[in-house]
Amino acid sequence: MPLIALCAGDGIGPEVAVEAVKALNAIDKKFKIGFEYVDAPVGGAAYDKFGTPLPEETLAKAKKADAIFLGAVGGPKWEKLDYSVRPERGLLGLRSALDLYANLRPAKMFAPLVDASTLKREIVEGIDMVVVRELTGDLYFGKPRGVEKLPDGTKRGVNTMVYTTPEIERIARVAFEIARKRSRKVCSIDKANVLETTELWREVVQGVRDKEYPDINLSHMYVDNAAMQLVRAPKQFDVMVTGNIFGDILSDEASMLTGSIGMLPSASLNGKKGMYEPIHGSAPDIAGKGIANPIASILSMAMMLEYTFDRSDAARVIENAVAKVLDKGYRTGDIYSPGTTKVGTVEMGDLIVKEL
Ligand code: NAD
Repeated sequence: MPLIALCAGDGIGPEVAVEAVKALNAIDKKFKIGFEYVDAPVGGAAYDKFGTPLPEETLAKAKKADAIFLGAVGGPKWEKLDYSVRPERGLLGLRSALDLYANLRPAKMFAPLVDASTLKREIVEGIDMVVVRELTGDLYFGKPRGVEKLPDGTKRGVNTMVYTTPEIERIARVAFEIARKRSRKVCSIDKANVLETTELWREVVQGVRDKEYPDINLSHMYVDNAAMQLVRAPKQFDVMVTGNIFGDILSDEASMLTGSIGMLPSASLNGKKGMYEPIHGSAPDIAGKGIANPIASILSMAMMLEYTFDRSDAARVIENAVAKVLDKGYRTGDIYSPGTTKVGTVEMGDLIVKEL
């Protein structure tokens, strides 16, 4: 039986997690997959109960599960805690313990929300891309790192950009495999004109393409140009693959092209195993009010079906149900515009389940 670890977390995390599970259960009824769930406390909620944001038991459950769903972690209640036990450490701890090296963030424009974008309709209408970001290497993990005091009293800060051939090869393969399920088009982002590490990146990505994926149409682009092209003509991109630091920035840029943070799912993968989560945080300002948008979480379940369970048929059913509910004019507060019908978290979940 496929096993899912449920890390609901803090703030709106548990509220949106309930709706995501509701949608997945409806899919299960339809497709008879037989999902089983296990609760795995994480973040501030886990700290309150166990004195740590990532209890051993949660880690063991996450390791055993085929996939993990995470709502959101964090909040003002835990902001004064030492860094080592802050809720966010729970999330980072899961990512690194499971070696989730591939972060996928789709940016897909739902037609009824075109006018919610900050860009013009003709630029954003029909956007459908995925940013594949390497998540466990680069400047964020490279050594040496730190800030040191110099003899003259000034300071020197150092971070190291580092990638090895196997690290680049494995993320390139993830991007090429995804591209094979889409339009076989990949753009690799680097700064090969200035940074040697990314010169290696370009060489290795091209090598994997030539040896293993000759059917893929691969192009390369410098990161500064990519940042510009994303707002100038985003529809030129299909699958974008890049390192950790560039991916951090470009994936935020790409996802915001399509509107609200409450709409955007993500996946962090190591092979078929993955952690799926909305990109938003615990939204303490709206927690407990029943107004959070559950769509990012519901779409995260669609990604789970696609990438861990190989059920793109079921994933499409969820996406179509979301599109239909939006088409009918239902909106949570974050995507509301005059002339549409405002609904709360549970009602939005119910409407989507009804379409399923
Ligand atoms: P946030 O994403 O929680 O909220 C930003 C804004 O977006 C808020 O106004 C919020 O109300 C709104 N928003 C977010 N999700 C929404 C949804 N589903 N529906 C409607 N509106 C939504 O970011 P923040 O305020 O910077 O951070 C709050 C807490 O969350 C912090 O403790 C932070 O560390 C944590 N955080 C956690 C994650 C995670 O768990 N992956 C990610 C980011 C931030």
